[in-house]
Amino acid sequence: MQINIDEPDATEQFWAGMREAAAAAARHRDNSLYEAIVKIGKSALAQGIELVPSGGLFLWCPICSAQSGQQCINTPRHPLDESRLHPERTELAEKAMRGEVPLPKPFG
Ligand SMILES: [Zn+2]
Repeated sequence: MQINIDEPDATEQFWAGMREAAAAAARHRDNSLYEAIVKIGKSALAQGIELVPSGGLFLWCPICSAQSGQQCINTPRHPLDESRLHPERTELAEKAMRGEVPLPKPFG
C-alpha cells in the first residue's frame, strides 16, 4: 500500500494505521506493541499531526470499556458521536497522548 503524504486524508490514514496496530496489540495482549503505538502517536502530535476524532479508537474507552481498536458500544445516557465513539474516549486519548493525564490501561 502506498500513502501519499500530500493527500488530504493522509492524517486519517495515519490514525487508521495506528488503530489497526492497536487492535492487533489488544488481540495479542501485547503491551510493548501498545507502548510503541503510544510513542508514535505522541511524536506525531508533537510534529503537528492533528488527532482525528476516530483517533480515540486506539485507547480503551472509559465509558463502555471497548478495548483498543474496537468500536464503542451504545450505553444509556452516553450517546455516541458521528465517529461512533464516546466523546469522552476521544478527549481522554488526546489528553493521554499529550501527557496531561496518565495513560489509560490498554485492554480494559
Ligand atoms: Zn465507548
